[in-house]
Order: sequence, then structure tokens, then C-alpha cells
Amino acid sequence: MDYKKLADFIFPDITKTIEDYEKEYSERGDVTVTRYAPSPTGFMHIGNFYSVVIDYVIAKRNNGIFYLRNEDTDQAREVEGAVEYIMHVLNHYKLSPDEYEIKGGDTKGSYGPYIQSERKDIYKCFIKYLIAEGKAYPCFLTAEELEVIRDNQAKAKSRIGIYGKFAKYRDYPVDDAIERIKNGEQFVVRLKSEGNFNHTFIFNDLANGEMKLHEDDIDTIIYKSSTELPTYHFAHLVDDHLMRTTHVVRGQEWMASVPVHYNLFKTFGFKMPKYIHTPLILKKDGEQVRKISKRLDPEARMTYYEEKGYPIYSVIESIMTIANSNYEAWREGHPDADFTEFEFSAKKMSPSGALYDLDKLDNISKNYISRLTKDEVFEFLDEYTKEYDPEFNAIINKDVDYTKAILNIEREQKKPRKDYAKWEDVKPAISYMFDELYNPTYEWVNITDMDEIKSILDKYINNYYNESDDKETWFEHVKELTESLDGYTSNMKEYKENPDNFKGNVADVSTVIRVALTGKNMTPDLYEIMKLLGKNRIIERINNIK
Ligand code: GLU
Repeated sequence: MDYKKLADFIFPDITKTIEDYEKEYSERGDVTVTRYAPSPTGFMHIGNFYSVVIDYVIAKRNNGIFYLRNEDTDQAREVEGAVEYIMHVLNHYKLSPDEYEIKGGDTKGSYGPYIQSERKDIYKCFIKYLIAEGKAYPCFLTAEELEVIRDNQAKAKSRIGIYGKFAKYRDYPVDDAIERIKNGEQFVVRLKSEGNFNHTFIFNDLANGEMKLHEDDIDTIIYKSSTELPTYHFAHLVDDHLMRTTHVVRGQEWMASVPVHYNLFKTFGFKMPKYIHTPLILKKDGEQVRKISKRLDPEARMTYYEEKGYPIYSVIESIMTIANSNYEAWREGHPDADFTEFEFSAKKMSPSGALYDLDKLDNISKNYISRLTKDEVFEFLDEYTKEYDPEFNAIINKDVDYTKAILNIEREQKKPRKDYAKWEDVKPAISYMFDELYNPTYEWVNITDMDEIKSILDKYINNYYNESDDKETWFEHVKELTESLDGYTSNMKEYKENPDNFKGNVADVSTVIRVALTGKNMTPDLYEIMKLLGKNRIIERINNIK
């Protein structure tokens, strides 16, 4: 059959050849090339981020290239600003791509366009070649016909799809096809699969190991005349080939498409890139372990981490920790190293899924934040609140030294306090230090009788509080106060031996002072807090207790 005639008829304007493109997109040499290839749906799942981190680590460890490709062939799903959002996330986490393109905007790299809808002619050239070779064909099956085929296959319990005898247009006469297209009929182009389902091939996934898979004999759709765009499968083949991708890191859900991709690469005789199908991200939900879900779990969306104010370091660490189980041990030995220095191994990923845990993230983050200086904490907090809490931002900026002094309580010391996992945690933890936010619900414990409380506080302020006391003297005075009260002891040993003999001890008395000044029964160092509050505010707050 005159397939060339058919190819020329369908794509009369396509004059370039595959060889032309091979020259244009020259080999990159011995360079590792990874990519993130999102569909612009305006959403980024933690699983996507996981793949990005792996892409980035693999590229950077090998001084390679990490690029971003906008896979917008399904234009119905496209959301405006989606790629800008993805770029924002990548830049925010300092995982910026070396090559990328923003629609109507900035672009970098010489393997573009990096937007699939701008690569129509390239795809058409590859499809034209296949049609001319008799390896692909236009198919006119209607939606109704496809449904009937599918129903019959389901009833007969056969494999679903257009293959073998169901591939009605495989050998359709060229002139008839041309006639139908001339009459304005829409069509799709299908690959004329040479696969045999009864044959298997070995596929070696870097994370999942060696697998024996069935060849694909389905005449997969590779192009749609209605949009003049290829399907994902075909675009992936052409782009990853021409952009010289060496490693495809993508979600586990694409594993099922491997036989299709194997078939396509084989048809063209192109070398397949290496594949890492990333394990699913799992979460513990009560007794059960399940896939993390964007519907049920707010932490499945990348917006969550920015809104809460998780430091980028913590989020990346938590991902690296689930990627390779030896990462934590490595980190202990290399506390200051960049995560890209870790010798990531795809083989060490757990194919059965990666258990993600917010408590773990919080732990990592608390440790990290506890080691920051007050200046660093202030800077992060300032940046976060500017965007997410402008009112608090104005408050912390009124007297920056005062705010930093608060942030420095039990910080910049050998065993710093680990109380913040994210910047959102700071405001509720220190709001009592700012009069404009101070609105106490007094958390009295052990000593709860208001007359008793008031008499303790009166005595303290009048006889034992001295603004200029150093820490030791300050505590001596609290002890003396305790001894002076009827039924209280400052001797904890004595108290513990016979608690029933006492109304309270020195800790209870300190708690009364703490609650009176902050509303809370648990705070960082009370002496430091009092130093920062100063005499006037201490007296005012104590006088406010009714
Ligand atoms: N556009 C595909 C997706 O968003 C890309 C899969 C791949 O990385 O190849 O899932």
C-alpha cells in the first residue's frame, strides 16, 4: 500500500525528518539528565514532590541537568498559572530546574520548546514517519463502536483494547482513508503494534528491580486529529528521546504503561531511558496503612507545607528519609552537608510504598529549628508572617530586638529548646509576650483557690520580687517565698516523701507566678520571660488577676 501517500496527505506541511531533529537536539554526551514533567493541573501532590527530589538528587549528584517540561497535551485539564505555581514550588525549595519554559515568558535551555503544545510539528514529523512506514494508521472507530467492542470484550472476559481482529482500520485502503479525511472526518492515529502478548520481555526498573512483562499488542492511540496533539505515551517517547533524558522518575501509576513505552521505543529503535517508578506514599490511619489521599489528607498537597510554614530543609529531609532508609544515619554523620551529597540509591527504595508521617516531619523540623540562631529564626518568621499573618508580622517588627530576645529564650545553647516544628507554631507559643495579643485564660493547676493565689502573688510582689535579681537570687527568693507560706515547702525531697502533709511546693508556687504572668502553666524559662516583661508589666499583670 502507498503509505507514503497517506502520510503526505495527512501531514502535507511537515517537511523536516527525524534525522533533522536528531541533529538539532544533539546528544548531550555523558551527562545525567532528569526531568519533571507535570501536567498543568494547578496541583502538586507530595508524591510529585517526592519524584522531583529524586530527580534533583540524581541530576545534581552527577553534575547533571534537571529540566522542567510542561505536559499540556490534555488541554481540557489545563489550569491557568499552573506552571508558574510549579516553578514557584521548585524555586521555593531551591530545586530550580536548569532548563524550563513559562508560556509567554521566561525560558532557559536549548532543548526546548519545553511546552508540549509548542512541539506539535516535532510530534507530527515522528508520526508521519510511522505512517509512511506502515507502522501507524488512521483509525475511524467512533465512540459508540468503541463502546460496543469494550462491552463485548468485557462479556467474553477478553483483554480490553484495540488489538488483533478488533483493529478494524489496520489495513484499511489508503485511498478510502484519504477520502474520509477529505470529507472532514476526525480520526486518531494508532500504532500498528508488532508486539505479541504471549511473549515477555525483561524490564529493569531501578527501584523495582527486574520484571518480566508481557509485550503490548494493543494499537495504542498516539495522536488525535481533533487537537493535532499526541497522547502522553507518544509525547513521552519523542521528548525524552530528543531532550536526551537519561532517567525518568515518575509515579508508580505509570508502571502499567511500560509495555506501551517499550513497544514505542522499540519501533523507533531508540534507547529507553532508565526508569524509576517511585513507590506510593502511604500514611498510617488508625490501624490501617493506606495511600495518602488528596481528598482526605491536607498534607498530600504541597500548598500545606508552605501555609503551615515548614522550613524547606525539614520537608526535603522528611522526603529523603522515606526515600532511602540509610539517609538518617548518613545525616547524623554529616549534619551540615547538602542533601544532594547523599549517595542516593534507587535500589534502596522500598517498592511496596513509602510511609510518610507528619510526626516524623515535626521531629525533624523541631530539631532543625532548635539549632537556628535567633537572627535566623527571626528572618524565617518575618518572611512567613509577611505572607500568612501580616498582623503578627507588624507586631514582631515593632521592636525587633525584643522579638529576637523572646525567640532566643533557651536557644543558642548546648541543649536548645525544641518547641517549633513550623512557623505557624510561633505565634500561639509567644503571644503572651506581646500586650496587644495577651488575652489569657489562666491555666491554674494544683493551686486553684483564687484567694490563695492572690495572697501568694501579693506576698511575692511586695516582699520577694526584685527586678535586678540574677537568676540564682531570683530562684532563692521564690524558695524563700514558698517557705514563708503556711503549709508549703521548698524542699522537694521532703515534699515527695509526704505530699499529703503539704498544700504545695516550690514548683507549685512558681507555677502560680507563671500562670499569673503568661496565662500558661508551661512556658520556657520563667526568669527569662520575667526579665523581658519588665517590672511594670509584671505588676500590671499581677494586678489584673481578680
Ligand atoms: N504528565 C505526566 C504526569 O503528570 C508525566 C509522567 C512522567 O513523568 O512521565 O503524570
